[in-house]
This record gives sequence, structure tokens and C-alpha cells, in this order.
Amino acid sequence: MFKTISGFDKIGEENAFTVLARAAELTAEGRNIINLGIGQPDFPTPPHIVEAAIKALKDGHHGYTPATGILPLREAVARRTLQTTGVEISPERVVIVPGGKVTMFAAILMFGAPGVEIMYPDPGFPIYRSMIEFTGATPVPIPVREENGFAFSGEETLALVNQKTSLIILNSPANPTGGITPRAEIEKLIKGLEKFPDTAILSDEIYDSMTYDGEEHTSLLTFPEIRDRLIVLNGWSKTWAMTGWRLGWSVWPDGLFENMRKLAVNAWSCVNAPAQFAGIAAIDGPQDDVANMMAAFDRRRQLVVRRLNAIENITCATPKGAFYAFPNITKTGWQAKKLATALLEEAGVATIGGPDFGILGEGYIRLSYANSEENINIAIDRIEEFLR
Ligand code: PLP
Repeated sequence: MFKTISGFDKIGEENAFTVLARAAELTAEGRNIINLGIGQPDFPTPPHIVEAAIKALKDGHHGYTPATGILPLREAVARRTLQTTGVEISPERVVIVPGGKVTMFAAILMFGAPGVEIMYPDPGFPIYRSMIEFTGATPVPIPVREENGFAFSGEETLALVNQKTSLIILNSPANPTGGITPRAEIEKLIKGLEKFPDTAILSDEIYDSMTYDGEEHTSLLTFPEIRDRLIVLNGWSKTWAMTGWRLGWSVWPDGLFENMRKLAVNAWSCVNAPAQFAGIAAIDGPQDDVANMMAAFDRRRQLVVRRLNAIENITCATPKGAFYAFPNITKTGWQAKKLATALLEEAGVATIGGPDFGILGEGYIRLSYANSEENINIAIDRIEEFLR
């Protein structure tokens, strides 16, 4: 039998894709399944963005591009960053990547090895821990608690940092909780990190424009004191409903940029050219479709929260960002993963069990409200009926 030498025995996965496959199987068997499992907008990519990709193909953009992306796209990212954060960044520090995930892959690969610690949010996006384990580094969970509004605490996070901490991964607005960490907590953490100048930070800001009720998203780019060790992950997947295009960007400190450029050359050469032209249209074009999508998400968010809280033994905090609800199901007496499986197999509703996002996810399930209000109502009717 083969024995791989690197960490493939430790690499994990994202259960949302397993649930998606199982939901498709059940649907093929003739079952009616409502999918509140997968984290992708149910809206099509706005038409002007699609047109820009078609035009790029017709104009003959069929070849390799620079490994870090075409300059007009990197400039567009710099413009958007200035607009959303007030911070001027050089396009020379922007790398265009095939999806947001690739930035976390690269950053964790750069900082992970046996003997070091990497901190990541728990509950949090499952690939953080999976990739940390792949590199042999020790994963150190940063608790994200409901009683803190699903924000991380600056103080608690700081208490976990030590000389072995090579990288701290932060995510706000967050998957799977919809939590947003207030600026004051981030400030506390960053102040304390002065004592650990060799610890890098990866800020996953992929949901930066998905906030509700006037909540402020704080980009870590707004802290100049960490600019030389900050990697920012962002992309087109969520904001412009472009998950299948595989298009993301990251901002790298000068000291790491060359590593990232060379990794791109070694691994994917460049992102497909027409998708990059679509990315420019997304940033520079009209944002009405984005605004309409967010208005729909907001209505669904309120619907999900209202309906879940009306179910006996379920409580659901109001998510402040992204498009996920993370209801507390402890009082139902169910273990979260068992409940998620039963809801899919018996009630025809796909959700994800909280423990798929980390140990602290027990007692919760994640519902993605990227589905129509009609389907959300049917799905919650089914959950209610099932628990009864
Ligand atoms: N970061 C977080 C927190 C996510 O939830 C996701 C996708 O679900 C990603 C990154 C990856 O995005 P992409 O599909 O662009 O790779």
C-alpha cells in the first residue's frame, strides 16, 4: 500500500460538500430536499459580470496571465479596498487567486510545521483546522461564544498566544455563526500582539460586505501597526455570487509577497483569464444586484430568526453578518450532528451540524439562508414538525 510522506493522513474536509452530495442523491431518488447546507448565494452572478467574461473570451484573452493576476484587476482591488476600508494599498501587494480558499491554503502552508502553533476560530470554517493539521502544526482553537455575540474576545485570544504561535487566523463576519467582532476587541488583541512581533495574522474578510443593521465591519488593514505581518483573504464568491468562478484576492505584506507569487507559479500559474476580466466588471460595475441580494438576505435572516425562535427548545441569536443562522439546539436533547443527519434523511432539510465547524460547535446547527423565503418556510415547518 502507498504511504504518503506529507500530512495527507491528517487532512480533513468540508462537510458542506458531503451534505450537498447526499442531498443531490436523495433528490435523484425522488425525495424533496431543501438545501440549507451549502454556503453559496442562490442568486446568479449579475449579468454585466457574465458579459465581461464572454467579451474577454471573444476578445482573445485565452492565454496565461501574470501569476499574480492582470494589473487592471489588481488595481481594481486596490480601489475597492480604499473605498471599503479607507486604506490605500499598492496593487503590487495584491495577488489574484483561484478562490478565497487558496489564500488560506497558502498562508497556512507558509506558517505551519511541526513544533509551531496556529490559532483559528472555533466554531469556524473547517478548512482552517484541516490545513493546520496537514502541515503538522498544532491547532489552537480561539473560542467563539454565543454569549459574546459570536465574536472572539481580544483578551481570551491574546491569552492563547505564545512564542510558538506562528499564525493567528481571524474571521469576521464569520462562518458559521454570522458573528461580527467589534473593533474594540480587535484593538485589544492587536495591542497585545506588540509583544509577539513574529506572529503573523491571516484575516479572512470574505464576508466583508455582508453585514446587517448598520453593523460595521472592521478590516484588519485599518491597523497600520500590523501591516508588515498581515495577510488579508477576500474574494468574489460571496459578495458577487461567484462561487463557481473560483476567483479571490489576497493582500500580502512585502516580506511574504514573493513567496506567494512563487507558490502561484508552482501550483496554478494564474487564474483563468476571462474570470479575471469578470472580476474587474464586478468591482467597477453597478452594485444594484449586490444591494438587492443583500436586501433579500436581510429579509430571510429576519424570517429564519423569527421562525426558529418560535420552535420549542430552539433559540437563535440574530446573525449580524454573512448568510448563516446558528441556532442553539441544546435543549432539544439531540446531538447536533445526529440532528443534522436526521433532518436530512427523515425531514428532507439539509443543514450542517455545529461540530463540523469545531468542538465548540456542539449544541448548534448551521442553516444557510441562501434559499427562497418560500423554501425557508417549508424547511422550518419540517424542522418544527420533526422535533415535535
Ligand atoms: N472563508 C470563509 C469564512 C468561507 O466561508 C469561505 C467559503 O465558504 C471561504 C473562505 C472560501 O471561499 P471561496 O469559495 O472563494 O474559496
